[in-house]
Amino acid sequence: METAVHNTRAMANPYKAQVGEFGIPISDEQYKELRSYAVDHGIHITGFRNYVGDIETIKIIIDDISEIARDFPKILDVRFGVVLELDFDMNDDDFATTDSGHIIHLNAMYFCRLDRLKEVYAEAVKNGDFVAGTDWRGIGRHETGHVVANYYHIDPLSLIMDMLNMKSKSEIFYRLGKELSIYSAAYNDGREIISESFSGYYSKVGNAIADEFVNRCLAARKEGEQDEGL
Ligand SMILES: [Zn+2]
Repeated sequence: METAVHNTRAMANPYKAQVGEFGIPISDEQYKELRSYAVDHGIHITGFRNYVGDIETIKIIIDDISEIARDFPKILDVRFGVVLELDFDMNDDDFATTDSGHIIHLNAMYFCRLDRLKEVYAEAVKNGDFVAGTDWRGIGRHETGHVVANYYHIDPLSLIMDMLNMKSKSEIFYRLGKELSIYSAAYNDGREIISESFSGYYSKVGNAIADEFVNRCLAARKEGEQDEGL
C-alpha cells in the first residue's frame, strides 16, 4: 500500500505468464459490463481483460471510490481522474499501490483471489498493521486517500501535527502506531496517515484519529473551495 513507484515492470515478470494459474479470465461480456460500470462512475480501468474473479468485487471498489468522490469531487473532475489498474507484476508485499498521484494498482495476486486477500488482510489487521475493524475494502479507500492528498494538496504531516497539537515527529508516529495503525507511521513524511485515516473513516469503524483527520480534510477542502470562489 505504499505510494512509491514500483520498479518491478522492467524485471522478469513471473506472474503475467501465469494468468492461467489464477483461473479463467472473465468473458468479453463481463469485461464490457465492468468497463461501462467504471465509465458510468467516471473511473478508467485498465488490465482487467485478464481479470479472474467476480466482477462484483471490482464494482465494490468502484462504489467505494465514488463514495469518497462525493466528498472530494475533484478526484474525478480533473482531466486524468482515477485510473484503476489490475497488475500481474507486483510482488506479494503490497495489496495495492498508487503512483502518479492517481493510478491505483491492484495486485492481481490478491484481487483475483478474494478469499486469500481477505485472509491476509485480516491477519494484518490482527497484527495492528492496518486500522482495527477494517476489512479488505479498506484497501481501495486507503489508496483513494492518496489520490485525495494529491489532488487537494493535503500535507498529512502538518495536518496531524496541528490536530494532535504535537511537534515531536517520533511521539506523533508512536501514537499513530498505537491508535491508528502501524502502517500509518511507516513513512517519515506522513504519507500513510491520510490513507489509513481514509480507510478507517470510510469503513466506519469508529477510529477517533481517522474520523477527526478526515473531518479536517473535509474542512480544508471547503476552505479551498471558498478561496477559489473569491
Ligand atoms: Zn499507502
